[in-house]
Amino acid sequence: MTSAPSEPSVAPAVDPDCVFCRIVAGEIPSDRVHEDERVIAFRDLHPQAPLHVLVVPRVHSRDVRELAADPELLAHVVEVAGSVAAEHARGDFRLVFNTGESAGQTVFHVHAHVLAGELAEGEL
Ligand code: AMP
Ligand code: ZN
Repeated sequence: MTSAPSEPSVAPAVDPDCVFCRIVAGEIPSDRVHEDERVIAFRDLHPQAPLHVLVVPRVHSRDVRELAADPELLAHVVEVAGSVAAEHARGDFRLVFNTGESAGQTVFHVHAHVLAGELAEGEL
């Protein structure tokens, strides 16, 4: 007699359809400038400014509206953005959360764009 495989009791840690979950898991390489237990930060593949880093919570949520349910994590994202700009630029920075498809969001795993220096001609 064969038994059916049991259902997993927890959701998978890595969403195979989410590119940033795969970067967090180390399955896709990234140029990391910061990592801690809650977030990672890495250089954007298509920089729009001399410093263009994405700060990404390790845990998947869709956008900054969902992230706001965890104010401490949201504050930590802002804090890390500030330290990345202090370390890799002159300290001042823009922080952009594209939220929703019509606002230009293309990766639906929340991330903050940290932009410093003169912006390239582009969307942001
Ligand atoms: P958004 O359009 O706000 O969703 O931003 C997604 C950003 O992720 C874009 O600026 C992309 O250039 C960037 N991006 C997508 N895939 C990668 C990757 N594998 N490594 C680094 N940046 C990426
Ligand atoms: Zn994800």
